[in-house]
Amino acid sequence: MSETGSTGGSDNPTTDALRARRDAVEVVRVLQASGYKALFAGGCVRDELLGLHPKDFDVATDARPKDIAKLFRSTAHVGAHFGVVIVRTGPSEGVEVATFRKDGSYSDKRRPDSVEFADDIADANRRDFTINALFLDPLAAEDSPSIHGHVVDHVGGMRDLEDKLIRAVGNPEDRLAEDHLRALRAVRFAARFDCQIDPVTAGAITEHAGDLTGVSVERVGQELRRMLSHTSRARAVELLAVLDLERAIFGAPGSGSLLRLSGLDASADFPCAMAAWIIDRQGFDGETRLYREALCLSNTEHDSVDAIIRIARDLHADWFDRSVAFQKRLAVKSEFGSALACVAAVDSPLADLVSTRVAELRASPSGLEPQPLLTGEVLISMGFRPGPAFKEVLSEVYDAQLEGRISDLEGAKSLAQKLLNTQEPGGGSGV
Ligand code: ATP
Ligand code: MG
Repeated sequence: MSETGSTGGSDNPTTDALRARRDAVEVVRVLQASGYKALFAGGCVRDELLGLHPKDFDVATDARPKDIAKLFRSTAHVGAHFGVVIVRTGPSEGVEVATFRKDGSYSDKRRPDSVEFADDIADANRRDFTINALFLDPLAAEDSPSIHGHVVDHVGGMRDLEDKLIRAVGNPEDRLAEDHLRALRAVRFAARFDCQIDPVTAGAITEHAGDLTGVSVERVGQELRRMLSHTSRARAVELLAVLDLERAIFGAPGSGSLLRLSGLDASADFPCAMAAWIIDRQGFDGETRLYREALCLSNTEHDSVDAIIRIARDLHADWFDRSVAFQKRLAVKSEFGSALACVAAVDSPLADLVSTRVAELRASPSGLEPQPLLTGEVLISMGFRPGPAFKEVLSEVYDAQLEGRISDLEGAKSLAQKLLNTQEPGGGSGV
């Protein structure tokens, strides 16, 4: 369902986005031609009004799922419980068509216990924020040259969009109590669209910030991932602190400084932004497990965040004074670019020096990451038995290669021989 889906519209329409709109208009046309009400709904309307090009379009209609299935050749019921059908009319991913509904109570604070089909007014009222509760009839006469259709606004969303305000639909306290994830959605939309949060909505968010602990870490993590992946990440994090949500997420407020996070390049990805934020919060020696648990990071995400922090720490510390082998080994790590971005965010002269040094290392005769001259097979062919010393020898010989102390197989073998001969007897590798 789109309620967990896209990352929002972009400035330029891609072929996929144009195709998605064309397919969605076709769905609306078929539904309307059969006498149903059918409108674009939610995020796609908001994005178009902001001049962005949505990647996916949701259609809302008074047709029931079984009626929708009769009208189109290819349909799939993805959320029968919520009255959601995916309609495929063309090569695009399919258009999500949802029957207008009002939500029942929210005993698990996540999903309504039941839904009841209703009209477009009730459907607008179940949505979280006024700017997300707009509809658009793409086939009606255009409201203005910049809007391709007629906007249907039951909640004052147009005015709020013009005023750049995130305002809960209805009573903010009640709407947040139903689903506290909406507090994080408010932050994400405010940051992404450069909006303020309406003071009453903001007050309710802060007052009930502690309730966020009732929301699953998967959902919290997903929202945070989306916030941190966007260029507006520093504003989002600032809002999390101001609204007291940061404390609810991590059990402790932030340090206040977002120097590194706000200095990051726009293109930084989630692990890089997460690492920058962690360094801002607690320096280089903090415990990253806390973040894995609070945001449900995958092992891969956690390991790369961890590695980025460690590499950035080394770059700020004594990387230039370390051996060539150490410098090269660090520079080829997959997280090195992100770590360098974290350094550049606060110290671009240092980042420039690092880049220059890496270029020098790359241009050295042995290069940055040469194929190892010595392998385990070579050692075995020399008559050595695999054992704990094996790995050490391979690593030491590779260091010598990285540093240009050896440059051919003969040199590698003779160094290995020397190293193995000096190993303690019984070390596992011998002739
Ligand atoms: P994005 O560009 O991030 O996808 P979106 O507004 O499209 O933004 P979705 O999560 O795709 O967000 O949800 C689609 C629509 O469903 C929203 O615009 C909103 O009207 C409604 N919605 C989504 N999540 C909630 C929620 N937790 N509570 C109430 N309404 C919601
Ligand atoms: Mg969406």
